[in-house]
Amino acid sequence: MSQLPWHEELNAALSERKAAGRYRQSRLRTGEQGVNIVVDGKPMLSFCSNDYLGLAAHSDIKQAFKKAIDKEGVGSGAAHLLTGHSHYHQQLEEALAEFTGQQRVLLFSTGYMANLGVIDGLLSRGDMVIQDKLNHASLLDGGRLTEAEQLRFPHADMGRLHKRLHTAAHAKHRLIVSDGVFSMDGDIAALPEMMALAEQHRAAVLIDDAHGFGVIGKGGRGTVSHYNLAADKTPIVVGTLGKAIGTGGAFVAADEVVIESLIQKARSYVYTTAQPPAIAAATLASLQLVENENWRREQLQDLIKQFRQGAEQLGLELMPSITPIQPIVIGDDKKALAIGKSLEDKGLLVGVIRPPTVPNNTARLRVTLSASHRAEDIEKLLAALELACAH
Ligand SMILES: *Cc1c(COP(=O)(O)O)cnc(C)c1O
Repeated sequence: MSQLPWHEELNAALSERKAAGRYRQSRLRTGEQGVNIVVDGKPMLSFCSNDYLGLAAHSDIKQAFKKAIDKEGVGSGAAHLLTGHSHYHQQLEEALAEFTGQQRVLLFSTGYMANLGVIDGLLSRGDMVIQDKLNHASLLDGGRLTEAEQLRFPHADMGRLHKRLHTAAHAKHRLIVSDGVFSMDGDIAALPEMMALAEQHRAAVLIDDAHGFGVIGKGGRGTVSHYNLAADKTPIVVGTLGKAIGTGGAFVAADEVVIESLIQKARSYVYTTAQPPAIAAATLASLQLVENENWRREQLQDLIKQFRQGAEQLGLELMPSITPIQPIVIGDDKKALAIGKSLEDKGLLVGVIRPPTVPNNTARLRVTLSASHRAEDIEKLLAALELACAH
């Protein structure tokens, strides 16, 4: 294997990253997904998955998956527009349209691809896309991909969004884009204000509900439902299926004309193989549980309350979040890493999130809670945090 002509440069950049405490590395998980997992051979109590409802290893979902595999094999074999679109995919699109109350739904293979596809597919030269600065990387990348111009506004600042809309007044079309629940802060977008501004400035709105779908709103219907928005006042919604839903993939929910346009133009829809049909079958089973088992969301809310009360008593710096994403701001990168490491030594796994994923000097522990946690698990975490953060 020959080395790249810029091998030395890459090597130097890797060393620099390591020295700065920003080196990324994956760990090896074995066994089932859940809150008690085995990572790099060690049993761990995990507070860092997005399996918020504890559904990833649910027996109903596994059964639906196996049944579909037996009937249809594994691979979908082709893109949706060729022969990849199975009856499971079709059924799932219909079920999600019904569930979200939107006219139509289009499946994508991942949330990343849905975000690229919807932004690039709906905008062209002369348009403007206006994004919250803390939006997920895939949304910002959608903005980089499109020929539309991209503007950003400071996180959750509706006054600055208003100003950006004035700046964009001459654009042919305007699309406001925001996470529904912000992935690193856990706060919920001010959707009613955003919709009002959009109406005032003839803009469209796209909400990425990766962390809201399944978790908040009536029956887990997400951010739009959390605010009780009227059906004719809803944004375009991207939902992902690999987090609270426990399976994989993503969808865009919108009106008929938007969906038909995406089918023609979203390159991350057209030029990729459809997800294995069994995943759609598994998602159909999961959707039933998401809608019917309210106790999972109630359990989650109890745990969130318990965690926040305990963390506040310890004097930890929390963020204004009512969602299962509960960051503890530490500030310094290396201090955050050290606390993460000390928790890990006690068998507790939390995400340590550092720049550039979050702004400089806001390195944090990203605690995520799941309906599968028990009150004792939260107590354990709080006790360990008390020791680890004491100095
Ligand atoms: C996880 C995530 C995505 C990407 O979804 P995948 O299905 O994992 O590709 C998009 N947006 C947000 C806010 C996310 O957290």
